[in-house]
Amino acid sequence: MKPDKAIKELQERIDIAKKHYAEEVPEYIEALEYAVRLIRKQKPMLPRPDDNGSAEYYESWIECPVCSEAIPEYTEEHETECYCLYCGQKLNWG
Ligand SMILES: [Zn+2]
Repeated sequence: MKPDKAIKELQERIDIAKKHYAEEVPEYIEALEYAVRLIRKQKPMLPRPDDNGSAEYYESWIECPVCSEAIPEYTEEHETECYCLYCGQKLNWG
């Protein structure tokens, strides 16, 4: 199953639960929302260039699109599997 499909399925359950059972199953809703956040992190996102980053230690820095932490740009050998060190967002080096 693709991440988008999984998120859509879960989001439908969240909407139904919030509408009808918000007081009965708050932890169920919380767990589903948690799952959606985790799945979103598995969808590769393009990092932003980070102009504020220090060039002292690395040649270039990029910024996580989710948590805005600056992270060093990796070399090509790491390009296929890369995650933000801070929030776990999967990143796509493009
Ligand atoms: Zn991050």
